[in-house]
This record gives sequence, C-alpha cells and structure tokens, in this order.
Amino acid sequence: MKYQLSVLCCLWMTLTWAQRNFDDVEITSEQLTDNIYVLFGAGGNMGLAVGEEYAYLIDDQFAPLSEKIQSAIAQITDKPLRFLVNTHWHGDHVGGNKNFAEAGAIIVANENVRKRMSTSQERRGQMTKPSPYKALPQITFTDAVTLHLNKDESMHVMHVNDAHTDGDSYIYFPESNVIHMGDNFFSSYPYIDLESGGNIDGLIQNFSMALAIVDEETKIIRGHGKVANKQDLQEFHDIIKAIRDRVSGALADGKSLDEVIAMKPSEEWDAQYGQGFINGTALVTTIYNSLKNN
Ligand SMILES: [Zn+2]
Repeated sequence: MKYQLSVLCCLWMTLTWAQRNFDDVEITSEQLTDNIYVLFGAGGNMGLAVGEEYAYLIDDQFAPLSEKIQSAIAQITDKPLRFLVNTHWHGDHVGGNKNFAEAGAIIVANENVRKRMSTSQERRGQMTKPSPYKALPQITFTDAVTLHLNKDESMHVMHVNDAHTDGDSYIYFPESNVIHMGDNFFSSYPYIDLESGGNIDGLIQNFSMALAIVDEETKIIRGHGKVANKQDLQEFHDIIKAIRDRVSGALADGKSLDEVIAMKPSEEWDAQYGQGFINGTALVTTIYNSLKNN
C-alpha cells in the first residue's frame, strides 16, 4: 500500500512539475493591511510586506515565475526587494531564490532550509539535487530573527517544531496582526514530509502555539489556499488532532498500518479535506509512520 501510494504521488509530482507550463499563470494579490499583501500564483502563497525603505517577500514559488512576481510586486511598491524569507525548503516555495538573489535580495531562513537545499534530498522516490550557491539562504538562524520594517512594525521569523519539515518557520507581524504559517496550514489535509524531518506531533503543537498567538482579527496566510482566520485554524487543529488520536489509539492496540487504514479514521472529513494530493489514506499512513518513528 505504501509502495503504491509513493509511486502514485511520485508520478503526480513528476507529471505536474516536469510538464508544467507556467505561461498561463497569473500572479494576483490581496491586500491584508496598509502594507502587507498575499500574492497567489502557482506554488506556495507568498507574503509581501512594504517597509520604510525596502520590500520584504516571503517565499517565491517556481523559477519561471520570478519575472511575473517581480512585476506584481512593482505594481504594489517601488521599494527595492531587499529581504526574502523562506518558510521551508520545498521547491514550490524556494524555486525563485536564485533569481531574486541575483536581483539583490538577501535570503533568510532557518538553518535546516540551507542544509537541505545544499545537499541531495530524496523525497517520494525522487532526488532533488543541491541548489546552486546563489539560491541558498545567506542568513540562517536557529530559533528566531526579527526584521524591522519601519519604526513601528516588525516581522518575527520563528522556527517552529518539526512539522511539515524540520526547517519550518512562521512569519508573524505582531503590530499588523498577520501571520504566514507556510505549509503547516493548507485548505486540505496536511502533507507531513517525513523524509524532510516532518512530524505529526510537532504539527499539532505548532497549531496550538499559533492559536495562542492569533486572535479573531488575525489574517492567516496558509501555504496553499485562501487567507484564513482563527476559526479555520481551530477547526483544522481539531480535525487533525482527532485523526492523530484515533491512529495513536489503534497503534497502541497493536494494529498494523493496513488495519488502521481499514478503520477509516479520517472518513467523516475526507470529502472536505481529502480531495487534494493528500487523501485520507495518505494522511493516515503518514500519521501512523510518524507516530511509529517517535
Ligand atoms: Zn512544502
């Protein structure tokens, strides 16, 4: 079962990434506050903050989209893009790094983003080669770093628990009440990349931490999907935790992976959340393997 899944997922990734044509992709933006925006295109959602002197970008999708992203930013601000923050190392979030660095951006990320980008990585049976030097984060941090947008506003880049990968960061704008949660938060079931150090319990702890930070007014940028609010995050937390607890209980009872899958622990939410590239079976399999490795 696991083999079939990984082959299917691998095939999906290969088809969608290798044959993807970006010509038709349009970069659109949504203004969240006076100076913070979310940009949508193909790949992970980007955050854009306009500071006193510079523009700050969070993630950069795929390399063929860099010019379009630069045009979309130019429509919003004429400030130079000085800092680029990566939420994690996956290609749909860092694909444009080299282009943006060559255009003058300094890339900031957790140290594990640089470690994974600078070495060969095997994921879902597919190898990702090391990125060129220019694409790597020039500034890395272990726990957190704060960038000051102007005299009043800041962006906190916080490394969180191993969840989607071991290099995940949340980017929180406390004065503006906006947070970018990277790929910890999707509008469909989460992808816990075990091969990149992901972990189900870390993910749930990160949700709890985010829930303690946000309030009813907070604009939450997800890695993929529409802008969300606290209620959406609470619901997502509750569902993923419920599925995790069911799988954990079955594991404690000595059930095998096939037996746990047959119990359909995610069934009532599959129609709403399991229609993306992580379906109920894929999620349950990953949670099972993550708990087993803990
Ligand atoms: Zn990702």
